Amino acid sequence: MLPGVAIVLIAAVVAGQAIALIDAELRPAVLRVSLVVLNAVGVFFSVKAARHAAGPLTWRLIAASRVLSLVSGIWYALYSITGSTGWQWAGALGGMAMFVCLAIAATTVSVARVRGAQRWGFVAEVATVFFSGLMLAWYFVLAPAAARPGLRWLLDLGSVASQLMALAAVTAVLLRGAVTRLTQPLTVLFAGTLLYAVSYSAFSAATLHGSRAQNSFLLCAALITASLLMTVAAILASSPATAVPPDRTRILRIPPWLTHLPYVGVGLGNTLMLVVTVRQHALALWGGLSIIQTAMTTALAVRQIISLRESRRLNETDPLTGLANLTGLHDALQQALQRQKQPAVMLLDLDGFKQVNDRYGHDVGDRLLIEFARLLRDETRHGDVAARIGGDEFVVVLEDVSQDDKAVTVAERILASLDANPVPAGSDTITIKASIGLATARPDDTAEDLKRRADLAMYESKRSGNHGWKVWDPAMTDRRTRDTMVGDALLQAVGTDQFTVVYQPVVDLGTRRPVGMEALLRWQHPQLGAVSPMEFIPIAERIGVIHQLGMSVLRETCEQLQRWRTESTERADLHAAVNISAIQLKEPLFLNDVLRVLTQTGLPAEALNLEITESAIVDEDFAIPVLEELRRHGIKIAIDDFGTGYSSLHQLTQLPVDVLKIDRSFVAKLDSTTRGAAVAEAIIRLAQVLCMNTLAEGVETAAQATELQLLGCHLAQGYLFAKPLTAQQLTTFLNQGNTTSALSPNPPAN
Ligand code: C2E
Ligand code: MG
Ligand code: MG
Repeated sequence: MLPGVAIVLIAAVVAGQAIALIDAELRPAVLRVSLVVLNAVGVFFSVKAARHAAGPLTWRLIAASRVLSLVSGIWYALYSITGSTGWQWAGALGGMAMFVCLAIAATTVSVARVRGAQRWGFVAEVATVFFSGLMLAWYFVLAPAAARPGLRWLLDLGSVASQLMALAAVTAVLLRGAVTRLTQPLTVLFAGTLLYAVSYSAFSAATLHGSRAQNSFLLCAALITASLLMTVAAILASSPATAVPPDRTRILRIPPWLTHLPYVGVGLGNTLMLVVTVRQHALALWGGLSIIQTAMTTALAVRQIISLRESRRLNETDPLTGLANLTGLHDALQQALQRQKQPAVMLLDLDGFKQVNDRYGHDVGDRLLIEFARLLRDETRHGDVAARIGGDEFVVVLEDVSQDDKAVTVAERILASLDANPVPAGSDTITIKASIGLATARPDDTAEDLKRRADLAMYESKRSGNHGWKVWDPAMTDRRTRDTMVGDALLQAVGTDQFTVVYQPVVDLGTRRPVGMEALLRWQHPQLGAVSPMEFIPIAERIGVIHQLGMSVLRETCEQLQRWRTESTERADLHAAVNISAIQLKEPLFLNDVLRVLTQTGLPAEALNLEITESAIVDEDFAIPVLEELRRHGIKIAIDDFGTGYSSLHQLTQLPVDVLKIDRSFVAKLDSTTRGAAVAEAIIRLAQVLCMNTLAEGVETAAQATELQLLGCHLAQGYLFAKPLTAQQLTTFLNQGNTTSALSPNPPAN
């Protein structure tokens, strides 16, 4: 939005122009007054901009050039009143100094560095623009000036030289990425500077050719517009909101239209040559040559533009997948934000890609990436841009997605399509899995902000289990640092005595007597304190220590249970449940290791339950054969947190499972109403039909226990009976033989 001062100024200038258009006599006066006012306002705001904007030196020099313009205007005015050539010289010298000042100001703008061969290419481009300017100046100003008697030609030569200096300086900074947006103050400033140089030369040329330039509406309007643009640029830059810190290290990235600037120069030069040839009636002698040369340079320019496009395309494309790369993504995102296309960013990271690469080799890995890219293209719209920005990291810029749920629909479509299209790898097929983070643009978001938020959401999605999506929300903090710290500590801690196993009794709801227990792992770190398994188990899975940790829990539990079972005949039927992570089931030796622990501890397989979460069984197709094998050996399988995953009823009938553990969220809803009991009851009925047992988790109140019993659930665990207890506390608890004094005499272990 333009500030109010700028709008008033533009309105005043337009009004002035309207008067000048109607009354030709008033034109010189309108020109002078407009320039004085615009220069004065320009000085004021340029000084202000020097305080607020990035690049204070630039704006100080601009202020100086506006002062010079003001002064030279006054000197010219004195010349037109007195007719003294002294004032004319002073005015012309002031004008020259102004352009030199503008040229120096342009060189102080923060731009990207150009190195090596790029530098010579850059010099050639600036030279092309410079020489096309020189061609025009030669024909219109220098040649006619040289033909006149006296020393006035010196003034014209100096004037042209200073204007070409400004032209070359502005071209140089434009071609080095000083301007990235049309609305930037610098864009407006440079547009003004270039127009000023052109109209000033045209003014000199018109005078040389004998016409009264001050009376030409077009020339006056061009000069005033140029001055207005420079003033508006200063007003824009003086508002603190537009201040952007300079970044000299950034890579050279200029708007595509600017790269055509040198070709515009060549085109202008050629046109001039053709026009002059026609005007001088020299068609027979020079016409053919001019036309052929124009055709030649045009062909060359076309060739250059095509290779420029090609190299830009290569620069922005990922060679393996053909999607955009990081540069391409950055450009697409930047454009979407600038054009206010309400973009959303979807960041996708493949799950377990490293394992696929390790197991099947890089060719299969590459095929997976290509397949994934194809699918991304198929599942997104034409205007959306998909990019690969890392080994197995992808981004999609979704346009016109202002609401989260639209982005979620796309994410779900992609996940469903991945499930439906497994990739063949030799005799196996691999289902590609991905974790997705989503963020929709907020006002004033930069490309980096948006990407960072999508990345945070992706990380959260990874943390909460693979093959899902998460939308960014303000409560998400970057947990990477904490996770890295916990991961490092975990690597050190495995195999030390920082870990203990605690046991939460499982009771028979009918007799209220303990019939078993669930083993739960505890970690006490010397610096981090007690770390919850909810936090460290997913990290242990990611850093690859879960199997080792899980096996030590299994061994300790089997040893301890066997001790309890043999200590007294009353406890001979106790069973224990151990939690197993899905990753453990992927271990080729998992089954062997479990059977070995049973043999070594002497615990019968029937006394052991392995708990695995519902999502782990449903998502991982390799899990079922392993579970079937475990059951064949007599080990029981329980689905943990049942009801929170997404297993279909059909799937459930196929699962090799003995016990459904009703998640504590459903137990918490029990309130003696039909609606409150709906899920728990459905699970219990389902289990009955499928000949499975049910076990309710997280029972905290006597009312819940009674209701569960009435619904037909016979087993339960929860704080009502006991919190997780150390082995010693559990021994005391077992000795009490019932749960009437529910909580143990010792402080509970959780
Ligand atoms: P889970 O297997 O569902 O374990 C039950 C969790 O509920 C335990 O949390 C337990 O302390 C808690 N709990 C039990 N009764 C109540 C109650 O009445 N009210 C409430 N609010 N909570 C109750 P914990 O020990 O923090 O374990 C969290 C999760 O960590 C476990 O959920 C399990 O998935 C995982 N975990 C724990 N130990 C191991 C292990 O050795 N291996 C694996 N793979 N995962 C483990
Ligand atoms: Mg469990
Ligand atoms: Mg559970």
